[in-house]
Amino acid sequence: MSNKPRVAFFDFACCEGCQLTVLSIGEPLIEVLKHVDIVTWREAMSEKSDEFDIAFIEGSITRDSDVPRLKRIREKARLVVALGSCAALGGPHVSANRFETSELLELAYGNKAEQYEAGEVRPISAEIEVDVPIYGCPINASEFVLVLKHLLLGRPYRVPNEAVCYECKLNGYECVFDKGMICLGPVTRCGCNAICTSRGHRCFGCRGLVDDPNVDAARDVLEEHDYSLDEIIGMFQIYSHRAPRVQQLAEAAAEPQKKRSKGSEPWRFGSTT
Ligand code: SF4
Ligand code: SF4
Ligand code: SF4
Repeated sequence: MSNKPRVAFFDFACCEGCQLTVLSIGEPLIEVLKHVDIVTWREAMSEKSDEFDIAFIEGSITRDSDVPRLKRIREKARLVVALGSCAALGGPHVSANRFETSELLELAYGNKAEQYEAGEVRPISAEIEVDVPIYGCPINASEFVLVLKHLLLGRPYRVPNEAVCYECKLNGYECVFDKGMICLGPVTRCGCNAICTSRGHRCFGCRGLVDDPNVDAARDVLEEHDYSLDEIIGMFQIYSHRAPRVQQLAEAAAEPQKKRSKGSEPWRFGSTT
C-alpha cells in the first residue's frame, strides 16, 4: 500500500466551480499530484474511501442535516482545507440570510416548499475547525497548488492578508474608480493578483475582507467619488456571512469624514473574514 498522503474532495452547497478550477489546473497539478493519492473526488472519479488525511471541502452549510456529514469528515481528516469562498466565507448565496427562509423557499418551489430544507447560510468554520482557508470565487489555481505544496511539506501557509489594491498597484493597473465604478479592492483580501481589475472590472470582494481593513482609506475613496451608502452595503453583502458586521463596516466607510470627532481613533473593523 502506498504511503503517500491520501487526499479527498467533498462538496456542500455551492456551484462546484472551485473543484472545476482544480480540475483545470493541468501540468502543475499533475506534478504535485504525483506525491499524493486521491481517494475520493466525486467530480472526477467514481472510487471513494472513508480513509483520508487531507480533506478539501467546497461549499457552505445551508441545512442542519449536512452538519453530521461535515463533522464526520473533520473527525477523519488530519487537515481540513476550506476550498473557495463558499466554504471559507459562506459564498454568494449568503445573501439569502437577508430574507426569511420560508419566503425564499416559497418563491423557488411554490406549493412544494415544505419538501425542502434550508436555513442560515454559513461557512464550514461555523461548524468545524478549518486548518487552511483558500478564498476566492472561484479559487486562484496557483494558490491551490501552493497550499497543497505547503501541506505536503508540513509548512504553515500564510494566507494573504493585504488588500487587493496592493496587487493592483504592483501590476500598474488603472484604478476603476476613475472609470466610475465602486471597487472593494481597498478592503478585500488579495491573493488573486487583482485579476478583475486587470481586465477593467471592479473587485466584488470575493475573497472577503482583510483582517484589519483600512476603513478610513476606503471611506476617503468612496467620499471622493460620491457613492451612496446603499450602493456600498449592497456590494459588501455579496460574500460575507457576517452581514451585521459588514453593514457596520459599510456604514463606517460611508460616514462623511466631517462627522468624525476631532482626534478620535481611526475606526477599526477588527478581525473578520
Ligand atoms: S466559491 Fe464561487 S466558484 Fe467556488 S463553489 Fe462557491 S460559488 Fe462556486
Ligand atoms: S480601488 Fe480597485 S481598481 Fe483601484 S487600486 Fe484598488 S483594487 Fe485597483
Ligand atoms: S479582484 Fe476582487 S472580486 Fe476579483 S478575484 Fe480578486 S478578490 Fe475576487
